[in-house]
Amino acid sequence: MNCYRHRDRVAVGVCAACGKALCGDECAHDGAHGLHCDASCARRLRRREARGDAPVSPVWSLLLVALGVALLVYGYRYSEWTMSVPNLLGMLFVWYGAVLLLQRMARRGADDAPPP
Ligand SMILES: [Zn+2]
Ligand SMILES: [Zn+2]
Repeated sequence: MNCYRHRDRVAVGVCAACGKALCGDECAHDGAHGLHCDASCARRLRRREARGDAPVSPVWSLLLVALGVALLVYGYRYSEWTMSVPNLLGMLFVWYGAVLLLQRMARRGADDAPPP
């Protein structure tokens, strides 16, 4: 992988905000919030930090939804009552996972507005 600006230089890392490959000579700037390529990306990283959103991996929310669905399936198959414990837990998990996913999508939309 080579630097996005200097095609002949090997990249030492990628910008934490936009993901561009950066060379160690002049493109990679190491800030308090991670590697970044220019001032606008540094601002973006700072803003992200200010909002305090530790990036929640989407894997966790997907895992929650999957677990919830599994519980629902289990509940419907092996239980006589619709409102059994597995069903209620399953609904809770699906709901919580969906909320996490939606929050993440909303955040991402705000973050990655098309560059001017
Ligand atoms: Zn960048
Ligand atoms: Zn470079």
